[in-house]
Amino acid sequence: MSAIAKMPVKARAASLKTVADLETARLVPANSGLEAVAEKYAIGITPAVLELIDRNDPADPMALQFVPSAAELLTTPDEREDPIGDLSHSPVEGIVHRYPDRVLLKAVHVCPVYCRFCFRREMVGPQGLGTLTSAELDAAMDYIASHTEIWEVILTGGDPLVLSPRRLAGLMERLRGIEHVKIVRFHTRVPVVEPERIDAEMVAALTSSGKTTYLAVHANHPREFSAVAKAAFKALVDGGVVLVSQSVLLRGINDDVETLAALMRGFVENRIKPYYLHHPDLAPGTGHFRLSIEEGQQLVAALRGRISGLCQPTYVLDIPGGYGKADIGAATVSAGDGCFRVRDWQGEEHAYPPG
Ligand code: SF4
Repeated sequence: MSAIAKMPVKARAASLKTVADLETARLVPANSGLEAVAEKYAIGITPAVLELIDRNDPADPMALQFVPSAAELLTTPDEREDPIGDLSHSPVEGIVHRYPDRVLLKAVHVCPVYCRFCFRREMVGPQGLGTLTSAELDAAMDYIASHTEIWEVILTGGDPLVLSPRRLAGLMERLRGIEHVKIVRFHTRVPVVEPERIDAEMVAALTSSGKTTYLAVHANHPREFSAVAKAAFKALVDGGVVLVSQSVLLRGINDDVETLAALMRGFVENRIKPYYLHHPDLAPGTGHFRLSIEEGQQLVAALRGRISGLCQPTYVLDIPGGYGKADIGAATVSAGDGCFRVRDWQGEEHAYPPG
């Protein structure tokens, strides 16, 4: 039996889901007046996340990620309900086909936690798009089976790991039969926010398609690497799952080079290859988390000089409207006068070729 399987089930205590729950847990003051926020956007704080929150720090980066605030009622003209254009690339319910060789399969639209900056906040939660019906799932699988250019299926949502191992194994069994699909990738916060779900049965389900299984772990602050989260990462890697990271660059949470460096090193130390650092999307009511692209580029450039190449993520923007991801890391090369100018990590330019 793995260390994970032997862990006590303390974390099975109920999650916090209402303003009253937050008030009782002293995460917000009594009579906080947050009902208007809760009516618009779901709340979810698991016992594992609750343990990481420092109630004595009004700027606690864990609290900022999960505890709602009145700032979410402010929207800017640039913000939109579907910031990355999922709906304009959805040929059938539950599928987003934005790039030729891969699709998103969004089987569920619920999560164990609800991040206050979520890019799909209008779609997830108890009042969101729900779970695919069996007829919708059939149509989604038919779509994947009939498009032979689809090499990779990315299960996202919502968080696909809220499904039971039995239901996930059922989905994997259906993908197993589609020859042209070679890679199955999961996007999830579960190993960090509800790590007790990662037991031997879950790992077996995730790898049961017979395809190569990738899992993108979403974490934004080094404090998310708790002992139980680390045990979950270990169980996944040892069980044959390849782990990559995804993080969102967020004001007040990880917008300084020390925190970002510790986050990226934490991933690598846990055998998670840093993959994407997302510029925050234009989701409604999230302006208080957004940095400028210029600020983001300066942070990413500072990371380059400070930490190993193994720890470098790609800084990306999902172009609003559904045009896909663009690498927006600081431009380090410019062409002119018959040579290139290449900028080093300290901002100095050098000609290439050097002559
Ligand atoms: S886990 Fe992902 S989909 Fe769910 S609320 Fe957080 S960012 Fe949104």
